[in-house]
Amino acid sequence: MSALTEIVQVLEADKILFAIGRKPNTSDLGLEHTTVEQDEKGAILVNEKLETSAKNIWALGDVHGGPQFTYASLDDFRIVKDQLFGSQTKNLNNRSQMPQSLFIQPALSTIGKTEAQLKAEGISPRVFKLASTSIPKSAILGQAKGFFKAMVSAETDQILGAVIYAEESYEVINLLALAMQAQLPYTVLRDQIFTHPTMSEALNDLFAAENEVTL
Ligand SMILES: Cc1cc2nc3c(=O)[nH]c(=O)nc-3n(C[C@H](O)[C@H](O)[C@H](O)COP(=O)(O)OP(=O)(O)OC[C@H]3O[C@@H](n4cnc5c(N)ncnc54)[C@H](O)[C@@H]3O)c2cc1C
Repeated sequence: MSALTEIVQVLEADKILFAIGRKPNTSDLGLEHTTVEQDEKGAILVNEKLETSAKNIWALGDVHGGPQFTYASLDDFRIVKDQLFGSQTKNLNNRSQMPQSLFIQPALSTIGKTEAQLKAEGISPRVFKLASTSIPKSAILGQAKGFFKAMVSAETDQILGAVIYAEESYEVINLLALAMQAQLPYTVLRDQIFTHPTMSEALNDLFAAENEVTL
């Protein structure tokens, strides 16, 4: 056994399905019989209200490209519902913070902007980092790999972005999304009472002064 196979689980299989990249599934919708316009990948062109180029036709979900997630499609529905029956204020430009999770082990979840993106915009965020090794629930779950990282505005104390590569990050990222959406200062999460042992409680430690990284 090589050093690699000693630490990596080996799975034997006849075939491997490797799928990467997606495109809107619009080819059999009969759009050629309408004035609905599409881009070169087949995505239906929409404005911020999800209106297509044809009057009274909206495009929701994967078919108009953009973030292709179940919850993005659901929020598209909210936008169209608001246009038809609501206040007519909701659109793609003012939608809620949209977190993302990649269900690998441990899970990789992100929200908002990365440190590099912020710096490219001329913003110098405060950065907080916490290794999974210091999270009790991580030890209980037997997953030492990973970290929490968050970028905070030096002016407003609001969270500008976060990356969580850790067990159950797909749950914790939703707490950060809520805090960002509500424009809460990071200190609310730092001082919040969380149940123990949970991955959420790591937010107390993440935002502790000693975990601020000096840039
Ligand atoms: C393998 C895989 C894993 C995924 N994992 C995740 C995940 O973990 N989390 C997540 O958020 N998203 C995930 N997604 C993406 C998510 O499934 C899609 O973003 C979401 O389903 C899009 O919703 P929708 O309503 O736009 O389209 P769909 O859910 O695809 O619904 C479109 C519907 O239209 C029907 N339809 C198609 N053509 C016609 C026609 N001509 N006439 C009538 N009906 C028609 C289809 O049968 C289907 O029922 C995953 C997708 C894939 C493929």
